[in-house]
Order: sequence, then C-alpha cells, then structure tokens
Amino acid sequence: MSPQELGLYSIGIGDRFGQQGAAQLRACRMALEQGVEITPVWNKSHREHTIVGSDPSTQRNAADRAVAELSWNRPYFVDADHITLATVEPFLPYCDFFTLDVAEDIGRAVERAEAETFISRHPELCGRLAVEGLDDPLEITREQALAAAQKYLAAVRQAGKIYRFIRERKGQDSFVTEISMDETDNPQTPAELLVILAAIADEGIPAQTIAPKFSGRFNKGVDYVGDPEQFQKEFSADIAVIRHATRTYPLPSALKLSVHSGSDKFSLYPLMRAAMVRSGAGVHLKTAGTTWLEELAGLAEAGGEGLEIVREVYRAAYSRQQELTAPYAAVIDIRHENLPHPDATTQWTSEQWLRALVHNPRDPLFNPDLRQLLHVAYKIAAELGQRYLDALAACRDQVARRVTTNLFERHIRPLFLST
Ligand SMILES: [Zn+2]
Repeated sequence: MSPQELGLYSIGIGDRFGQQGAAQLRACRMALEQGVEITPVWNKSHREHTIVGSDPSTQRNAADRAVAELSWNRPYFVDADHITLATVEPFLPYCDFFTLDVAEDIGRAVERAEAETFISRHPELCGRLAVEGLDDPLEITREQALAAAQKYLAAVRQAGKIYRFIRERKGQDSFVTEISMDETDNPQTPAELLVILAAIADEGIPAQTIAPKFSGRFNKGVDYVGDPEQFQKEFSADIAVIRHATRTYPLPSALKLSVHSGSDKFSLYPLMRAAMVRSGAGVHLKTAGTTWLEELAGLAEAGGEGLEIVREVYRAAYSRQQELTAPYAAVIDIRHENLPHPDATTQWTSEQWLRALVHNPRDPLFNPDLRQLLHVAYKIAAELGQRYLDALAACRDQVARRVTTNLFERHIRPLFLST
C-alpha cells in the first residue's frame, strides 16, 4: 500500500487538546492484534482550531508523537477537516488528508446550458440503470439528471478548485482527498450521488472518500435520531452506487463512504456493519468529539481537582449555552429545561457526574442534553489553559484508559470487528 492510500477501514479520531493520541492509537493497535487494520486519521476542522486556539502544526506534532510512542508502522493521516478555499492555507504544510467541504455550494445555480452539456457528455446517466447491489434498477429521467446536475455541479466544480489548489502546493498523490456534502439540509438520493460521482470524475478529483448527507439527525455525542431502516437503505444504496461509479468512471477503485457521525451513533453500527460485510465495502468513520467527553469523564472519575474542573466547565457552559452552541446549531438538540441548574450539581459526586455524562442510554440518570452541551463546551476547557492540561496530566492513566476502551469497545469493535 502506498503511503497516500487510506485502506479499507479508517477512523477519524479527533483529539481537541492533542493529549490523547497514544491512547487513541492503542485502540487501533488492539484491532490490529485481532487481525483488522484500521487507519487512524487525526481530524480537526478550522472551527475546532479556532475554538481551541490550536493550529495544524500542533495537530501534526501530536499525531507524530503518538505514532512514535507506540511504534506504529502502518499508515496514518492528519486531516484538514471541512476546509474551504478560505481556510485551507494554514493546513497545507501539516496535513496529508483534506476534507473539501462544498456543502455551501450545493444549489448554487449553474447555467442550464452547462448542465445540458454535462448530461450530453453522460448519456449513461439517463434511463434504466441496473446497479449491482440495488434491489431495483435506478430510473433516472433526463429531467431528473438535469436537475441533479444543476443542483450539484457548482459544488463539485468548487471541490475541483480546492483540490487543484492543494495539489499545486503539495504535489500530486501526496494526500488523501475527501469530499463532504454532509452539512446540508437534504440527503442526496442514490441517483444524485451517481451524478455527483460522474461530475467528480470529470473534475479529475481522485476522491478516496465521500461524505454524503444521510436522513435523520446526527447530533453531537448522542445516538442517531431517525429511522434506522431508512438509514440502512441509504447506506447500502450509496455503497452500491459508489461501486458502480468506480467501475464506470475514472475514480479510485478504493473510493468509499465517509460517515461524519458526530460521535456515538451506536444504534447504526450494527446496520453499517451488516451492509459492509454483505458488500465487502469499507468505510471511514469520523468520530471526533467522543474523546474529549472521555477526558471529562476521566476527570470526574478522578475526583479532587479533576472533578472541580468538570463542575466549572458545566457551570460556565450552562451560562454560555447560546455562544457555545451557535457554531453547532444544525447538529445539536438541547432542551434547556432538561439541564440541571449548576447550583443543583455542586454536591454531585464522581458517580453522579459519570452517570449523567457517560453515554449509557439504559441508565435512568444518563442526561443526553447535558452530554450534548458538554460536547460543545471544550472552549471552556481551552480557556482554562494550563490548568486543564495539568489536570489531564494528573489523571493521565484514568483518562487514557477511558479513551482507549471507549474507542475500542464502543466504536471499533461493533463497526469493524463484529461478525
Ligand atoms: Zn462533517
């Protein structure tokens, strides 16, 4: 495998404060010991860097440090997550994975003539298309193909622009390209995805992963809200369409789905797993924030100063809910009335905090509203600065154990290892 290939299975493991790389990598090593290679990708968006006050060089250093510490001799990547032309520059020297976010350009009108030209170049998109792995053939009328082209061509062209911008600076084949269209309102249909992939091939983008939008809500740090059956249908259909596209167009044969999970979509993992086993397809799973919440859980578990920090982070988050949730408005659903007032939590023990925070839907004390709020409250920890890092260092073993176990047992095992 050449160094710029992602492999069949890969996992996006964001690490907000750059302290848990080794603990995260250990989970990948445990999978490897069971015979399954999962490529780790440390992803961080411009938004996250801005909120934490970090930069891509520290992200790169943290990844390299973890890899050295564990003597990991398999591929790994550092992902400039959700970048645009406006934000990509500082990532260029340090990243070898770029997630081109073109959701904003979806629906930006292109001339009808341009869409017509595209469809004329792709007569194969129209009509009755038998796609291996789909129960029914795709039926795409010329009008539907035209509508899809008009809706998505501008976004794909923009992806082409960003891709070429990066390629000119980093060189061909020196990085992995992902195209993300997940942060938008409507899921793409299988037919639309096929049109998008044809357009991506036309643009000459060697995309290895594509992140479409799925039905339902992918709220931060909590389970999927929606119809799991519908999700499974979309996921399986997308796998089939991607395979069809890689056989039809000049696209990397390893192109696979990327699922921006927002962490902890536990109810979807068995469904994804079943579809992957059935089709032999791989997947890239982005699940970034779950590690930061394990840091908090580790601090709560440790008691003392660690627990005090959890209290303070919650108190500040409660009063700054508006500010903290604004950048994530589309991906959280917090019912304020379900949040305990901070005054009511001052006496909470470690156990009470853990039961409210840790994602265990069967526990009657689990509070998904509190968990979502804390998921976006890492800005508060960033403001604590050295004090936060010192607390992490003081509870290093507890936190690391939680980070590894959480990733391995709750994410990697059900999605990549279960039979
Ligand atoms: Zn995303």
